[in-house]
Amino acid sequence: MMKARLTFLGTGTSLGVPIVGCDCRTCSSTDPRDKRLRASAFVEYGGLKILVDVGPDYRTQMLSAGLCSIDAILFTHDHKDHTGGFDDLRAINYVGRQVAEIWCEDIVLQSLKQAYSYIFADDKYPGVSEVSIHLIDENPFIVYPLDRSRRLEWERNTGYRYLLPSGELVPVGNPLDKAERADDPLFEGNCRGIRGNGVEIIPIRGIHGQLPVLGFRFGNIAYITDMSAIPEKEYEKLKNLDHVTINTVSYRHHHSHFSLDEALEVAARIGAGHTWLTHLSHSFPPHEEFSKELKSLCKERRIPSVVLPAYDGLILE
Ligand SMILES: [Zn+2]
Ligand SMILES: [Zn+2]
Ligand SMILES: [Zn+2]
Repeated sequence: MMKARLTFLGTGTSLGVPIVGCDCRTCSSTDPRDKRLRASAFVEYGGLKILVDVGPDYRTQMLSAGLCSIDAILFTHDHKDHTGGFDDLRAINYVGRQVAEIWCEDIVLQSLKQAYSYIFADDKYPGVSEVSIHLIDENPFIVYPLDRSRRLEWERNTGYRYLLPSGELVPVGNPLDKAERADDPLFEGNCRGIRGNGVEIIPIRGIHGQLPVLGFRFGNIAYITDMSAIPEKEYEKLKNLDHVTINTVSYRHHHSHFSLDEALEVAARIGAGHTWLTHLSHSFPPHEEFSKELKSLCKERRIPSVVLPAYDGLILE
């Protein structure tokens, strides 16, 4: 089985931790592991760089993880804590001069079209994000390395493009432009045809309250967030994992997320080597205390997996 490497870019619930204005024990904790941005993950798999969800903390997350070029962006579902950074994908167009390659379900696309109608307009304002959409469902799909020969549509339409590093606009094809292109490895001509082997990703269907959502399996790691139920047949896709992430927001029953007890039941059922809890809220105690509590709960219930809270920046491999 091909191995993946997953970095948690955000492990917090929709308001993040700390919550603005809250002075509870967890929100006041000085442990950096209690500072949780909105849920997102960066996965390196088969030589590809894959981002799962683009929430409102996207910019901060990309900067702190030192990321720029991304081959594929996957969406789990269309809630704003997972899609709120969509406009900021312009940086991929601007710096990498690439179209952002998005993989999502049709229900997510329809919602993005409503929320960001200007990005999907026929006659776009120059500089508006350029995205390319690949529709998926719960069947396995293949993602490919970023196609670096693709030109930004608005550059073609307007005849202008950004000149880095100044950011000013120059006409495509002027001498200055050509001079820069000659030694720019990202640019068309130098990279045309780079399109190596793709990698297969297995989506996991989940239910988030009433909403169908997707998790994703990358070889030995599965990333599950924002679920309150997993249909029986999907457990087939979750066998023999080194790591799985599972969302929980509270000790109590929640209409659209697993409670802690439910998350532990799912962890026991999947039986991965490690289970990492994510999408955590301030209703859980600070990290150290919560980790100890989970260890004793797992021992008590004989859960065949090491269950721990994830934290921002944690790397699984
Ligand atoms: Zn969420
Ligand atoms: Zn709080
Ligand atoms: Zn959600």
